[in-house]
Amino acid sequence: MSADIAAEPEAYRDIRTANDRYAEAFDKGGLALPPRRRFAILTCMDARLDPAKYAGLSEGDAHVIRNAGGRASDDAIRSLVISHKLLGTEAFFVIHHTNCGMELFTDATIGDLLADNLDTATFDGTVWSNPQHGGGSPAGRDIDWLTIPEQSHAVTSDVRRIRAHPLVPTRIPIFGFVYDVATGRLNENAAASEAGRPTPPLHLG
Ligand code: ZN
Repeated sequence: MSADIAAEPEAYRDIRTANDRYAEAFDKGGLALPPRRRFAILTCMDARLDPAKYAGLSEGDAHVIRNAGGRASDDAIRSLVISHKLLGTEAFFVIHHTNCGMELFTDATIGDLLADNLDTATFDGTVWSNPQHGGGSPAGRDIDWLTIPEQSHAVTSDVRRIRAHPLVPTRIPIFGFVYDVATGRLNENAAASEAGRPTPPLHLG
């Protein structure tokens, strides 16, 4: 732990200071575990996106699942299934965004960069390159990085993947949006939301 603190003293101090203030004014200790507004958002980890602000959330309101790209990975689906099955959410929102970093590289690009060196690469607007060389690992070549060749296709494909999952009830609506980082606006992707349209449960007998 002390090594990490030494490496990032500013981030460490900032978080401790901010949390001291947060905890001093904290009055949310009585919240129930299940999300009060009964929905879950799957969105990108991009630092410019603040789901609490763009979707108007407070503590206790909703589940927010984040990863690189806001992709419907196996782990994201694991969280969504828990969100509904054990914690009662009744609608899912898949929210990708414009200018996503996942549009800027391919599996081959990151696999090659990591095979060469693990330190942060640089991007000149077209090409990624390593400032240092050596000490990399080929393990990155075995990962599906879920990069995004085309944003509107990706959000639709993610909604479709969740919709088709055998553990996601067909009556749960799944909406697809692309957040515009230039305007702060959530633009619905009609094809994605159509793919996520719920179907009523079968009435047997
Ligand atoms: Zn992103």
